[in-house]
Amino acid sequence: MPRPIRKPNNPMPKEWRADQLSKNKIADYKPFNFVDGEGIRCSLYVSGCQFLCPGCYNVVAQNFNYGQAYTKDLEDQIIEDLRQPYVQGLTLLGGEPFLNTPVCLQLVKRIRREFGHQKDIWSWTGYTWDELKDETQDKAELLSYLDILVDGRFLEEKKDLTLQFRGSSNQRIIDVPKSIEKDQVIIWADLKR
Ligand code: SF4
Repeated sequence: MPRPIRKPNNPMPKEWRADQLSKNKIADYKPFNFVDGEGIRCSLYVSGCQFLCPGCYNVVAQNFNYGQAYTKDLEDQIIEDLRQPYVQGLTLLGGEPFLNTPVCLQLVKRIRREFGHQKDIWSWTGYTWDELKDETQDKAELLSYLDILVDGRFLEEKKDLTLQFRGSSNQRIIDVPKSIEKDQVIIWADLKR
């Protein structure tokens, strides 16, 4: 018999709430990397995700208690790293950034205060764009600060290692400001594959 395809969890709208789930913890911080989006980036991996996608690239970070507390010292370090002229921006990933909005909102607001739009902000999420439209206010607010959103669960049956910045072909690299303006998904203009 063929092996049954395992699926990620599918929440109801507003079922998962950061104010109930997030422990304000981060799994990792990687400054000056080349792999989490366009250009040289500083990446914050937040802890906790409930999608539990089979084949998840970062299983340890599914646990909301994993890692270390997000601190003012770390935030100051991220801001100083972003200040380097060769750094293009910040990337949020995890874990699930939209279930850690207390951490992510604090950081993205400070980035806009300190740098305006000179640094861009990318985020990965297991939610789809359409799901986020029916979600809690904190998720909508985080979305409003982003330049790029890579959306959707990782699906093993759609796995494709040749894709830019994503693991399965259902996931999309979305230009957030244009998509909000047009009220439809607009794919990142620099997408090659
Ligand atoms: S959404 Fe991302 S972090 Fe969460 S389980 Fe799926 S692959 Fe892992």
